[in-house]
Amino acid sequence: MQLIFEKSVPERKGFQVPKSDVSMKATIPGAYIRKIDCLWPEVSELDVVRHFTRLSNLNYSLDANFYPLGSCTMKYNPKFTEKAASIKGFANLHPVLPQLDGSLVQGGLEVLFEMDQLLSEITGMDNFTMQPLAGAHGELTGVMLMAAYHRAKGNKKKYIIIPDSAHGTNPASATIAGYDIVSVPTDKNGVLSLKDFEAKITDELAGVMLTSPNTLGIFNSNIDKIADAVHKVDGLMYYDGANLNALLGRARPGDLGFDIVHINLHKTFATPHGGGGPGAGPVGVKKSLSKFLPISRVIKKDDHTYALDYNYPESIGYVAPFYGNFSVILKAYAYILMLGKEGLREISDHAVLNANYIMARLKKYYDLPFDRTCMHECVFSASKQEKNGVHANDIAKFLIDKGFHPPTVYFPLIVKEAIMIEPTETESKQEMDPFIEAMIEAAQLSESHPDQFKDFPKNTPVSRPDEVKAAKDIICNHFLKK
Ligand SMILES: *Cc1c(COP(=O)(O)O)cnc(C)c1O
Repeated sequence: MQLIFEKSVPERKGFQVPKSDVSMKATIPGAYIRKIDCLWPEVSELDVVRHFTRLSNLNYSLDANFYPLGSCTMKYNPKFTEKAASIKGFANLHPVLPQLDGSLVQGGLEVLFEMDQLLSEITGMDNFTMQPLAGAHGELTGVMLMAAYHRAKGNKKKYIIIPDSAHGTNPASATIAGYDIVSVPTDKNGVLSLKDFEAKITDELAGVMLTSPNTLGIFNSNIDKIADAVHKVDGLMYYDGANLNALLGRARPGDLGFDIVHINLHKTFATPHGGGGPGAGPVGVKKSLSKFLPISRVIKKDDHTYALDYNYPESIGYVAPFYGNFSVILKAYAYILMLGKEGLREISDHAVLNANYIMARLKKYYDLPFDRTCMHECVFSASKQEKNGVHANDIAKFLIDKGFHPPTVYFPLIVKEAIMIEPTETESKQEMDPFIEAMIEAAQLSESHPDQFKDFPKNTPVSRPDEVKAAKDIICNHFLKK
């Protein structure tokens, strides 16, 4: 539809408002035709720029602020990787192209092939698939690989063991893949209880899903014993790689006895994430499972060119369209090459140091249910504050008022009033100190004026929603009645 201006070339003086198209009037029902001219806002370019710039500043983002959200690994994402992802030769690739003419996409295939090798080297695995689109999707893929392995061997397997500290996606993925879940409690040291675990092992055990370090930020030094026990009944060890940031360059899941891993590229390897994506959850396996990996797979031919290979009759098939979230994979590739071996190792050094610094400074003020050296994150409980009626949620709202994104609260589920802090390696002492001071202030205020907490946040454009009213009026009355 072409809009006709009153004059074919608008005058330069001031902004010319397009008048409605005469020919359109013929086809639009009379009731919908404007009786008066549209009232366009009369604003200058500067007004518009300031309006949108102000709005963008209301957005809380990693580029501007500290984001201590435990388990999520909200590290700074260097702009260099965005540049790599926007290189035209990559950004304009069509996903069908590799199947039509591989010679036109050698660069893209090389990235996928090399990522397979790099991630295998980093995790101690033999092969990777780049297809899964998120960590949880990687979990499902991994458990499907586990099932394919047992099917091929004729193993009668029924259940998967998952610690009670696990992320909710673990039992969800295993259930979708058709397994029963057996939960094992955490012991007083903050790791899977070995005694309870051993009692749950039978010939019907398909495998174990572990996060290491676990969601309490604690490393389990019994992993080799667990792996031996699982392998004895031909079960498989699954590594939830969401916390790989703590181990990079120091320990490899493959060396610890794991058979399958997923990596959250958007967490460990720096892609902006949150709000649902985009992410990537590549899955790596030991040789005995390689033949089950999704197709297609990228191979390097004798003439050093790359091609897609579909010839894996035992493959579980496609788990996502094409080759995964290519731009996320590309950013992770650029990030890994930029940092190199030494750089990757420094990630875990600094991530662990930062978390321990925060833990050491706050443990006088907050209860620390598992008081031991942590890895890349630490988990407090607001149980001391709760005695005065102040909950983890209230402390989170107080922090918002102080200009901080709150840490993760109420996860992991096994810690009452949990406050889970993950600073990541990219934060400096100068950035962490004001956050620590605000946490201390919250603890002190909970002693002196606990009643004030129900009003936070006070300084934000939107005040605290009435969650009970929201649940009752909106969810119960509106949605459930419908
Ligand atoms: C984030 C996370 C997941 C799920 O990963 P997504 O990429 O969000 O799907 C699984 N396990 C743990 C421990 C996590 O922190």
